[in-house]
Amino acid sequence: MSTVIAIDGPAASGKSSVAHQLAGKLGRLYVNTGNMYRGVTWAVLNAGFDLKESEAIAAYAKDLKLEFVDEGGRILMLVNGRSLTDEELNSEKVNGAVSLVAQVSDVRTRLVNEQRALLVRGDLVMEGRDIGSIVFPDSPFKFYIDASEEVRAARRSKQGLNDTVAMRDKLDSTRKTAPLIVPEGALRIDSSDLSLDQVVERVLEELRSRGAA
Ligand code: C5P
Repeated sequence: MSTVIAIDGPAASGKSSVAHQLAGKLGRLYVNTGNMYRGVTWAVLNAGFDLKESEAIAAYAKDLKLEFVDEGGRILMLVNGRSLTDEELNSEKVNGAVSLVAQVSDVRTRLVNEQRALLVRGDLVMEGRDIGSIVFPDSPFKFYIDASEEVRAARRSKQGLNDTVAMRDKLDSTRKTAPLIVPEGALRIDSSDLSLDQVVERVLEELRSRGAA
């Protein structure tokens, strides 16, 4: 039976780097669920929807062709048969719209089902906002990676990305469906003053004490 290491946290907390590194070290598949919401958002914008049309967006997302391929240990989502570039997924337009699209409950239902189905492919490290709370609430391996707002904004601008971290966090934490929370049973790690290696080491230590291989 495959297991999931669930990594949640706010925007630019460093969770992607931690999850990616951890997956490599443990030989698990890496799944970035933020990119799934970004991919659907890209498609919604590309199809010309007004973001207020949540019912139309819900219907569109239900039938959207999504496929998942293993590319060198990370799961990539193809949207209508197309693999999206990092530039497309992290564009200013997508940054500004993704938290609104992620509030549409049928979009979430679709993606949560897809995320759960990935477990048949093997042991996973999955990162997002609701992995430990909603997608895999029974996982014994849950982490919440945090960092101060200043540190997170600085990290994003260092990456050259114009992102509205504070606005997305507000929308993500206050939405009705699957808001960002510290999941029950999760170890919270504040990464503000820690290096990537230190955070990964702390996670590995905790995994050992929780009996993960
Ligand atoms: O992880 P990332 O910052 O790329 O996620 C982009 C957005 O996707 C988040 O701000 C959030 O609105 C949404 N998201 C979500 N649930 C997840 C992962 C991401 O709602 N599990």
